[in-house]
Amino acid sequence: MNINDFRFDGSKKFKIKDFDTNQDGKFKDRAEAEDLREDHIMDLQSLQDRLYAEGKEGVLIIFQAMDAAGKDGAVKYVMSGVNPAGITVHNFKVPSSEELAHDYLWRAMKAAPQRGMITIFNRSYYEDVLVVKVHDLHKKVALPERVLTKDIFEDRYEQIKNYEKHLHQNGFRVIKIFLNISKDEQKKQFLQRIDDPAKNWKFSEGDVVERGYWDQYMEAYEDAINATSTQDCPWYVIPSDKKWFARAVIAEIIVSTLESIDPKFPEVSEAQKQKLAEIRDLLINEK
Ligand code: ADP
Repeated sequence: MNINDFRFDGSKKFKIKDFDTNQDGKFKDRAEAEDLREDHIMDLQSLQDRLYAEGKEGVLIIFQAMDAAGKDGAVKYVMSGVNPAGITVHNFKVPSSEELAHDYLWRAMKAAPQRGMITIFNRSYYEDVLVVKVHDLHKKVALPERVLTKDIFEDRYEQIKNYEKHLHQNGFRVIKIFLNISKDEQKKQFLQRIDDPAKNWKFSEGDVVERGYWDQYMEAYEDAINATSTQDCPWYVIPSDKKWFARAVIAEIIVSTLESIDPKFPEVSEAQKQKLAEIRDLLINEK
């Protein structure tokens, strides 16, 4: 598997129609992909320990997807192997009245990662160029006329790109992941949620309403991804009909990003080593 196949950094166009959502890489079977994931979780743990100890770079991982594409499972999976002290998850819901009273990036900025930390955004400010665009929701909030131009979403892509560039230039990596499923796969997942009583809670009627806007969402995703993919803050579009494959790709992307940061445990100076030796003696000789 080569994660560059799924990477969009502005050098090529993302065409959603040409994208096969049902890939499984060169894995022999699901078990082989899961073995690789286990290895990656081990790598992730040691890289995260060093990221945290070094406390210089922070990492923002954004997950975007249509309903039932496996966003929650992917978040759970990334969280599964790492030290909870070094990772936070932020869910982006329908904005509250306080959030709507600010600019749309405000709530994301408040939740942005600290140095040494990994922050996961389960949905993100991209909703403001996805659901908002599909349903014209920007027309329902108090925005001045001068903002409500036909270019409002082009303007937002630019603002988002600038914000992400700002994060990158200030020591934060931004990884953007779109879990791409087919409409058929979504139907299968919805039916499972209806047929399996243990999954009923996951199903909401509203999800089916949104499914009715599938084509508009696909167009919005395609536009947003093409407009905001950059070398420093790329998008990864992951074939997600097979969730085990998607998770293997996600693991590899996160590990390779952390490896490129190459965090190191802080070095202990000679004076500190001397001090530690003295304290050690004191502890050993304690009465
Ligand atoms: P999820 O589907 O992520 O598990 P929810 O079922 O609570 O969680 O869905 C969150 C909802 O909030 C989604 O329908 C999403 O489109 C909506 N949402 C998020 N951000 C915005 C926004 N800026 N404007 C309007 N709706 C939003």
